[in-house]
Order: sequence, then structure tokens, then C-alpha cells
Amino acid sequence: MIKVYTIGGYEEVGKNMTAIEYENEIIIIDMGIRLDRVLIHEDVNFQQMSSRDLRKLGAIPDDTSIRNKKVVAIALSHGHLDHIGAIAKLAPHYSNVPIYGTPYTIKLAKGEVRSEQYFEVTNPMYETQYGEIVQVSENLAIEFVQITHSIPHSSMVVIHTPEGAVVYACDYKFDNHNPLGEKPDYKRLKEIGQEGVKILIPESTRVAEQTKTPSEASAKLLLEDFFYYEGMEEKGLITTTFASHIARLQELIEIANNMGRQAVLIGRSLAKYTGIAKQLGLIKMKGAKAVRSPAAVQKTLREVSQARENYLLIVTGHQGEPGAILTRMASGELYDIGKNDTVVFSAGVIPNPLNIAQRYALETKLRMRGVRMVKDLHVSGHSSREDHRYLIKLLNPENIIPAHGEFRMLTYYAELAEEEGYLIGRDVFVSRNGYKVDVR
Ligand SMILES: [Zn+2]
Repeated sequence: MIKVYTIGGYEEVGKNMTAIEYENEIIIIDMGIRLDRVLIHEDVNFQQMSSRDLRKLGAIPDDTSIRNKKVVAIALSHGHLDHIGAIAKLAPHYSNVPIYGTPYTIKLAKGEVRSEQYFEVTNPMYETQYGEIVQVSENLAIEFVQITHSIPHSSMVVIHTPEGAVVYACDYKFDNHNPLGEKPDYKRLKEIGQEGVKILIPESTRVAEQTKTPSEASAKLLLEDFFYYEGMEEKGLITTTFASHIARLQELIEIANNMGRQAVLIGRSLAKYTGIAKQLGLIKMKGAKAVRSPAAVQKTLREVSQARENYLLIVTGHQGEPGAILTRMASGELYDIGKNDTVVFSAGVIPNPLNIAQRYALETKLRMRGVRMVKDLHVSGHSSREDHRYLIKLLNPENIIPAHGEFRMLTYYAELAEEEGYLIGRDVFVSRNGYKVDVR
């Protein structure tokens, strides 16, 4: 029997954490945060808080159900904060249990550990290559299968057990034209399907979208289509996107180079994600520069405001996050943003009430300053209904436990699974945070 502890991410998009138990040994997959639960409290300093206080806020998963069990490994699927952001808070409770992930993921997780101020994290962390099978106990092994998402080195985490594989597919999309050249490893997924998948744990965030998620190549085309036209007269061009979306940033840098402008990336998180990507050869910064310290940001923005037509600014703040560069610009800080500027949102609004409200405030302030706005030059990194159908066909899992979503998203997934011949309660299980599904 395999037990699946659905610890976090089964009632929300955020704070993902799942644990797989076989014969009293556990592998944890992901330890994420839910940022909006931290941000609603203006006085909260995440780095200085205990895991108990953060659990009370609903900001990190409540893992108490597995605290006293034998955990043999922690596996990280990819580097987004809703998957690795609670590492520094929760890993110390499993002292010396090794943490595995792909190189970009582990480098980002190490950054989380370094900035932690409350706990000391001593767990060893290992960079694992795609295809490598890490035997973590006599019965259990971990494998990371290459997949495409919106951050480099994303993986499906496969836990090999004597009863078959458990495949954790949060987050992914099947991108067959990724501009960075990353490809889903269809061959390996098919093989794993033939070897036998006992349980599939897929994300469900966008399963209600009746389509296949478009390739990142279409986002590139949307951006090029906007920026390249005869008679472009814009002076200030300011774009904003996810700091971890390296493919998108690379596209923007290329566009700037082609337009004869210098791409200038401004904001701490942009510098962090591109810095590590550069170390790993995942981004080419030729022609671009990244600025992070407050003094450098002020100096650079002063220079840019004198000759806007020479630059393409890439800034943080696409969700209107407090303290982000675009949010501060809209409030009249740092830069005299106004009717000489066009702001391009290469990001959708993350659908939670806090983001929606913050983005509304941001857009209203920009509009009041006479800024021209172009929205939605973006495609999602999450799988839609037809990506999910592919995955079911490739893996032919015996059981499915949808994850990574609010209750309604999980049930939309269950509906899709029923279309594919599964039955809720028999081989599809909709769970909640803090519960456990026993799969025989
Ligand atoms: Zn993700």
C-alpha cells in the first residue's frame, strides 16, 4: 500500500507539499509558501518567523502529520516559491534528511536557506541531473524527468516503489517549441507509463481551460509583434514579467538588442534569478545589465529618464506587489513615469483576490499618470485540459490524486479523469490539506 499525504496545495494555489509513504518510509515532495498570506500582514518579516507562526498564518504547509515519521528524502520539483519557499522553515524539522532537485532548483533553494534568519538549515542538498535515478532507501528511488514550465530545469518527480511509480506533475505544460530549446522528455514518460504508474499527482490549476496551453514561442511572437513595427515612436518602454521566467527575459533582451536599445533589468529578484541562470549558462545577458542595489537603481533610473528612447526597462511588479519597482514608479517614486512611457505587462494576473486588488491599484495609478498600457502579452506555464489528457495517455496511471488547486479546480480535474474512464472514489481521489489517501 502507498499512502499519499496531501499536506499543502490541495485547497489553494500555493504552499505545495505532498508526502509519499511506502512501508513506513517517506519521501516529501516540495515545501512551498503561500505568499499572499504573508503579504496581507504589512509588519511580517518572513525570514525572522518560526514555522509555527507561519503555519498559523496559513503561509506554509502544516506538516505536523508526518513530523514523527521516518522521512528518507526531500525532492523539489522546480524553483518557484510555491514549491520551495518553505524549505528553510520546514527542512530543519527533518534534520540531515537530504534534499534533491535539478541544478537551478537547488541553487535557488540554497538562496532561500542563506537568507533564512530564524532556523539553521543543515540538510545536505544535492544537484541531480535529469534521468539520474537516486536510490534513497532499499525500496525507494527518486528520478527527475525533464518537462517544460515557466522556469528552467522544471521536472516531474518520479518516486519508484516496488508497487510502481508515483508521478508528481506539478507544474508543467507540454511545450513543443520552447525558444530555450527545453523539451518534455516524452520518451522517458512513455517508458515510465509502460513500467507501470501506480499514482499520478497532477496540477489542476488550469484544467478548466478547454485547450492545450500555447508554447512559449507564442509569447515570443506576441512580444515581437508588438515591439517591431515601422514608425515605433515610443520613448519610454517598460516591461514587467516574472523574475524567474528566464525564457521570457531572454526574449525581451533579444528584442531590446534588435531595437538598438539596452535592456536594463531592475529589481532584486530579477538580479537573483538571472544571476543564477547565467552561472548555469541558461541565459545570455549580452547587451543587457541587471541592477539591484538601491543606490544603483536610483542612479540607473536617473540616466534612463534622460534618454528613454535608448532603453528597454524590465522591472519587477507585474502583480502590483508592494515594494516592487513598477509599484513604486506608479506611486511617483524612483522615476517620473508618465505620458512618455508605455508599460507592457508580459504576465497575467494571478487569480487571487489580493493580486487582483493590487494590480487594480497599480493600473489605476499608472492610468492617472497618463501611462499607456499593453496587457497580456503572455502565455501560461501551466497545463490546460488537453495537456492533461496527453499526460494521462502517456502514463496510463492506475490512480489519480489531483493537486495544486482550490477545491473546484481539483473537481474539474476529476471530471476530466472521468472522461478518460476513471471514477471518482474508485481511482480518482479529491483530497484536502492535512488528509491522507491510502492507495492499495
Ligand atoms: Zn511553478
